[in-house]
Amino acid sequence: MADTPIHDSRHEAALLQLFGQFAAFGKLPGGGISRLAAGEADRQARDHLCDWLGQNGAEVVVDSVGNIFGIFDLGQGDPDGVVLCGSHLDSQPNGGRFDGTYGVACACISAVAILAAVREGRLIPRERQLVVVAWTSEEGARFQPSILGSGVFTGDIPASQALAATDKDGVSLREALSRIGYLGEGQGPRPSRYVEIHVEQGTRLEATGNDIGVVATCWGARKLLVEVTGKPDHTGPTPMAARRDALCAAARIVVRVNDLATGAPFPVHGSVGRMDIEPNSPNTVAERVRMWVELRSGDAAVLEQVEAELMLSFAEIQQVSGCTIADSSAEGREVVEFDDTAATRVEAVLDQAGLRHMRLPTIAGHDAIRMQRICPTTLLFVPSRRGISHSPDEFTSDAQMTRGLNALTLAIARLMCSPAPQAPASAPLRTE
Ligand SMILES: [Zn+2]
Repeated sequence: MADTPIHDSRHEAALLQLFGQFAAFGKLPGGGISRLAAGEADRQARDHLCDWLGQNGAEVVVDSVGNIFGIFDLGQGDPDGVVLCGSHLDSQPNGGRFDGTYGVACACISAVAILAAVREGRLIPRERQLVVVAWTSEEGARFQPSILGSGVFTGDIPASQALAATDKDGVSLREALSRIGYLGEGQGPRPSRYVEIHVEQGTRLEATGNDIGVVATCWGARKLLVEVTGKPDHTGPTPMAARRDALCAAARIVVRVNDLATGAPFPVHGSVGRMDIEPNSPNTVAERVRMWVELRSGDAAVLEQVEAELMLSFAEIQQVSGCTIADSSAEGREVVEFDDTAATRVEAVLDQAGLRHMRLPTIAGHDAIRMQRICPTTLLFVPSRRGISHSPDEFTSDAQMTRGLNALTLAIARLMCSPAPQAPASAPLRTE
């Protein structure tokens, strides 16, 4: 590499080694990973992480929902100052080996690189604790809602609710964590800042030839459960004018959601992903349809406007169809804006290191969006080949992974440390 600030080729090799070790836990014959939250493969990955953290000098704490914290004491700086860095180790069934795990492995190696630079007097930390974190159940594949462990940590989800969540076999998260030995009693330290690196799960970095994405915002989402009620009738003799066809009205809503999304002044994604039809008989006009409508956008005002227009169209569709339409629940999340000051600082060090970068939004949720609610948060992306994720085909090259490690280490150093005064100003962080 042309420039090797703070970390060097040994750290890059260590990252690839640690990442490769995690990839063995839950590995499937077809190359995918199945490491569902609080399952046996998750236990193996957690054990490996805890061993690694202990061997590298961290104090390991596990909290009540199984979040793992590896606390590195930098020996100087504000004793209450805590910078948290990590991601998640759980995967989708037959998922990829990069999603989440890459961020945990990178956090481990960045932490030891920073620790070494502090001990050698090359960096002076403002915060004394640098903490690697692996959040429980980010994926939402086994237990819902998703982004669960970090949600409990930030106070968005009560721990009791998270622990009571059950999988498809009726096993609760409490029971599953207890079985694998990760129903902890500790408490994670309150962070002054959070940093996460993750694979993009999109194609923007690849399409533009950038190494690193600095995430500016996370799209907001609205999820509506809509119930359309008509009248059951024989599909044969009932005159068309006499029918109140709930499925026909539902179809108008499906098309309307699509039209609103594609016609919006700012990108909106919208779909109806599921419908339950009653009585769902070939010979009966549908009496009732329950439909799950989802709208997402990076612009809060546009999202609100599209939702309002959808509601207005319900009145019109009721009139045409003779059915009644009720939207019984609305949930979702607001548009999240990540800390802009931190993003600008990180971009400056990426420029110095010659890493090509761009700002971009994330449409998918990440632990970082929970964390931005309680502290300044930075989310970085590395490229994903063809944008594929939640699939065995998920892929990021070794070179892209090590450039990401470099970016993460530089970002943490810039955000929590000052260069030592004796270091030359032109290259304050170089090691060789
Ligand atoms: Zn993830």
